[in-house]
Amino acid sequence: MTDIELRERQEQLNAILSSMAEGLIAIDNERKVILMNQAAGILLRTAPQEAAGQDIRQILTVHRDGQELAYNDLPVEKAIAERDIISIGLLDNLSVKAKNGRLFPMAMTIAPLLAKGEVSGAIILFRDITKDREIDQAKTEFVSLASHQLKTPLSAINWYSEMVLEEEVGPLNAKQKEYLKNLYDANRRMVELVNSLLNVSRIDLGVFAVEPVPMNFPVVADEVLAELKPQIELKKLRLEKVYDQTAPTINADPKLVRIIFQNLLSNAVKYTAPNGVIGLAIKKEGENILIRVTDTGYGIPAADQGKIFTKLFRADNIRDKEAEGTGLGLYIVRAVVEAAGGRIWFDSLESRGTSFFITLPLAGMAKKAGVKGLT
Ligand code: ADP
Repeated sequence: MTDIELRERQEQLNAILSSMAEGLIAIDNERKVILMNQAAGILLRTAPQEAAGQDIRQILTVHRDGQELAYNDLPVEKAIAERDIISIGLLDNLSVKAKNGRLFPMAMTIAPLLAKGEVSGAIILFRDITKDREIDQAKTEFVSLASHQLKTPLSAINWYSEMVLEEEVGPLNAKQKEYLKNLYDANRRMVELVNSLLNVSRIDLGVFAVEPVPMNFPVVADEVLAELKPQIELKKLRLEKVYDQTAPTINADPKLVRIIFQNLLSNAVKYTAPNGVIGLAIKKEGENILIRVTDTGYGIPAADQGKIFTKLFRADNIRDKEAEGTGLGLYIVRAVVEAAGGRIWFDSLESRGTSFFITLPLAGMAKKAGVKGLT
């Protein structure tokens, strides 16, 4: 290639980089900036020429939930080490601080920079997602408002059908009773769905309150199991309970703890065929309390395991077996556990069974002011 051709190629490349809407920064193996495009300069309020040669840590400060992230927590190192493209999106709560102090939410993609098969640095692509956040927020607020409005008429249906079912306004024949019972049950499912939607919107808006009080986990677990007793008996499931007597009283929000047990235990019951076994263990493990819910049920297909905590997701293997369900339970449980500083994970083998594990710090949940608790 001649010098002129080379220069033309270079100019073409520069024009492409300058026209990009996304911010782009290339760094070398020493984490020094090799190149920064115009969009990155505008977003970070730093002139690209000024950035060249500087350590990326000086140029790009990333925050999560208001706290500055240590550089090693950023997936740059991971992308380089694993030669993998890492994307951090809308829900990661990451923001970047520009030089003028403005903090903006951002989505980021980091890819290793490969030259002749060797990793020679990384490419960081990022964009301001303020607008996406606003749209997301508006959608969530709509869901919150709509579910709130739906609660009143649903309560009225519940209340009146209960009265008629109990024959407070006159006797019913068998057919009328059966139909009314169906109506009542369908309404109850709708109430559950609306409550779940309301919970999801409170989680997504970050406005749910946490009100810890000293409490005993096995007591809540037993209350939930008592409610599930009819289904457990109907399916002839064997229940194996192991409560560690040394498990202490913990400061936690009873509503949130209830949500955890309710979802995990009702899933174990729903997704296990008759005559199966479900297990619940609550024990102290180091600085945590460990909750384990096991079943010998349908299991979660390997291909679906990555999606199990996503909103509205239901695996294919259960959809024709178990009609009831919203696909919102585990999303809510994970948000609750993570808000409490805990962890949730599972092991599952299709047609063999599933074990869910949750750890929560013995130090308890931190109080958090919010508009409302979860229901
Ligand atoms: P729902 O139970 O209302 O569908 P969840 O969010 O609680 O929603 O669960 C999401 C999906 O995860 C379920 O639809 C099911 O496919 C799968 N799942 C959850 N728990 C189990 C379990 N114990 N055994 C098998 N599959 C499960």
